[in-house]
Amino acid sequence: MKIGVLALHGAFIEHIGLLESMGIEAVRVRLPEDLDGVSGLIIPGGESTTMRKLTARWGMRRPILDLAAKGAPILGTCAGMIVVAREIAGGEEPVFPLIDVTVRRNAFGRQLDSFETELPIPAIGDRPVHAIFIRAPIIERVGPDVEVLAALPDGRVVAVRQRNVIAISFHPELAGETRIHRLIATMATEYAEPREGIVSSEHPRALPADRGEAM
Ligand code: GLN
Repeated sequence: MKIGVLALHGAFIEHIGLLESMGIEAVRVRLPEDLDGVSGLIIPGGESTTMRKLTARWGMRRPILDLAAKGAPILGTCAGMIVVAREIAGGEEPVFPLIDVTVRRNAFGRQLDSFETELPIPAIGDRPVHAIFIRAPIIERVGPDVEVLAALPDGRVVAVRQRNVIAISFHPELAGETRIHRLIATMATEYAEPREGIVSSEHPRALPADRGEAM
């Protein structure tokens, strides 16, 4: 089982290092063929506008949407959260509209550009996550099929999940926090080797990928 890390821009090296330290095979994903044999994808932090341009330029948009449609787990962190959101506040076009939320970029403003806090995420365990926020987004609207995984004490939503797609505002890879990556790896194993008795409709195989770019 291999997990891809989108390696066009941003904090991809840290994600690869964390996965490898956990004994998980990590693959740099730059081109559509890099997704072959990959059972999950991490979209790192960075600058979402740069990621938007590079994914379009390298023909990555359709292949990533196809991988998500097949049921492979996708984790977006920080800028990665922005690119998987169905809606971006302020009217920017979505990049990979995979999760039914509205995200606001740079939501903490200049006063609180970057900060760290202990964030409870009950879905991954009792011990809070040491969450590092860097010019981070927040979720302003949560669709009906979206589960809130974490919110700040004032109620602002910073981690969400819709089926196989998880989006978080902060950077677990900078804090050596492994539990979110472990969750993705567990989901990826389940995707790669569905348990016996689970019919294939659980992980429907997509039609052959159309390599043409929509954008
Ligand atoms: N501020 C960045 C953006 O809006 C995200 C920052 C990050 O990924 N650390 O794209």
